[in-house]
Amino acid sequence: MSSLFLRTLREDPADAEVPSHKLLVRAGYVRRVAPGIYSWLPLGLRVLRNIERVVREEMDAIGAQEIQFPALLPREPYEATNRWTEYGPNLFRLKDRRGGDYLLGPTHEELFTQVVKGEYASYKDYPVMLYQIQNKYRDEARPRAGILRGREFLMKDSYSFDLTDEGLAESYRLHRDAYVRIFDRLGLEYVVVKATSGAMGGSASEEFLAVAPTGEDTYVRSPGGYAANVEAVTTPAPPARPVDGLPAAQAHHTPDTPTIETLVDFLNGAGLGRTFTAADTLKNVLVKTRAPGSGEWTLLGVGVPGDREVDMKRLEVALEPAEVALLDEADFAAHPFLVKGYIGPSALAANGVRFLVDPRIAPGTAWVTGADKPDHHVVDLVCGRDFTPDGTIEAAEVREGDPAPDGSGPLEAARGIEIGHVFQLGRKYADAAQLDALGADGKPVRITMGSYGVGVSRLVGVIAEQSHDESGLIWPRGIGPADVHVVVAGKSEEIAAGGERLAAELDAAGVRVLLDDRKASPGVKFADAELIGVPTIVVVGRGLANGVVEVKDRRSGERQEIAVDAVVEHLV
Ligand code: ATP
Ligand code: MG
Ligand code: MG
Ligand code: MG
Repeated sequence: MSSLFLRTLREDPADAEVPSHKLLVRAGYVRRVAPGIYSWLPLGLRVLRNIERVVREEMDAIGAQEIQFPALLPREPYEATNRWTEYGPNLFRLKDRRGGDYLLGPTHEELFTQVVKGEYASYKDYPVMLYQIQNKYRDEARPRAGILRGREFLMKDSYSFDLTDEGLAESYRLHRDAYVRIFDRLGLEYVVVKATSGAMGGSASEEFLAVAPTGEDTYVRSPGGYAANVEAVTTPAPPARPVDGLPAAQAHHTPDTPTIETLVDFLNGAGLGRTFTAADTLKNVLVKTRAPGSGEWTLLGVGVPGDREVDMKRLEVALEPAEVALLDEADFAAHPFLVKGYIGPSALAANGVRFLVDPRIAPGTAWVTGADKPDHHVVDLVCGRDFTPDGTIEAAEVREGDPAPDGSGPLEAARGIEIGHVFQLGRKYADAAQLDALGADGKPVRITMGSYGVGVSRLVGVIAEQSHDESGLIWPRGIGPADVHVVVAGKSEEIAAGGERLAAELDAAGVRVLLDDRKASPGVKFADAELIGVPTIVVVGRGLANGVVEVKDRRSGERQEIAVDAVVEHLV
């Protein structure tokens, strides 16, 4: 530490609101360059690289192959999928010296599709899974919480390419399982929830949410640790229920995908009693959507306060099939589980629906039934957590305020931070790029794709958010900048030499060590050690004369005197 490029700060940065942001800046892990744009200093970069390593190992383990695309990309592939426009103000667009249009990649579906089309031709080539760990650029409306929502951030994005729907389901499962392993290895507390993929062709999409009161997403949990997100997907249903005061139904027709502007116009023209802008986060709005010319409406709920908020951009994507209308009385009458502005567990509960879970249906999905209600399809139930795997129907309560299924107290809404997202894209991008494989029968087969993201740099903030105390950060072993922090506490040459010797021995034994050999006072060193958050702190001080050092567990605060000869063995 006497030569480490590190200066810790005593004061919280003025712009920081959440603990991870305050602590990562104070402990000298990151420094702000511009809103949502951060530099990684040595300690922070080490943590980032450790997380990257875990992600890379688990991606490699499922057979995904690493490649790397540029972040600076030409307009054309994004034009072909309409995302040059669709991405709206979140996209960083720029021009080269000849006036050509470029963008900084916010996500890379187009490029991966293109590269696979370039290299592969036969059905024998498939399936394939490719990934990269690369900086992404999004001009977020509200960059916040330091690296948690950056405008430049590191993402692991992977893409699967399959010949069949079953193949896609398998690639999706492999990724989902890999994500579980990644987040378990990082020691995170998280839940897996269905994402509001809305009208995106009904394909599977799930988000991994790290539990954090400062998060921007909401799910249901009990104080005893039970957690689930149960979002009802619409099914045909019955008895009429009058709803007062709804604006008249209106349909909105656009020739193709609605832009944020047409969406804003639509909502503003709907008589909802408030004015919307493109930057809004929506609550209390319910719409339905369908493909042009198709008779089937898909209901799309946008939450109420306390539920997931949806920003305009996300709604715009969900409304892709182009025809949009507000729900009307008939919709509410036909779907008794709808309450104004909300489809979800508390809405179901408010309508007296009890949840019965049938585990015989594919893992992760289930049907819920109410005594007087027809079935509602729900997803994201986890076998063993939400119901037993023995094939019997198990009753599971998911009513807000009721006890959790494991009896661990009343369910409540809780907040989380999105750390990963798995998504069955289907053929949207393959259609745009005409990505086909030549089948065994000589006929072309359209490829079906999945895309899967992990917020690698965000994870640094998320771990910090979940694992800290008032004195500083607390890293899990293997993830922090070091595993043992040796503090030389004393001015004598013997103590300094003892500290160095111990650090060298630990290093030789393969333990990652940070040695505080600075001339600062023990008080300053202890405070910095707590702030930096290496999981084990070894104090080499006066006790050395008696052959002992103090070993402190950063998380529990527990201290032990250990013979200096036995320390290495104790810590490997
Ligand atoms: P969010 O809902 O938080 O805006 P997203 O749904 O837009 O995230 P995806 O497109 O699914 O993000 O990207 C995959 C992952 O990248 C996310 O699960 C998240 O962990 C991470 N990520 C997305 N946006 C950011 C950001 N601005 N800063 C840091 N990480 C991000
Ligand atoms: Mg986003
Ligand atoms: Mg999201
Ligand atoms: Mg997402």
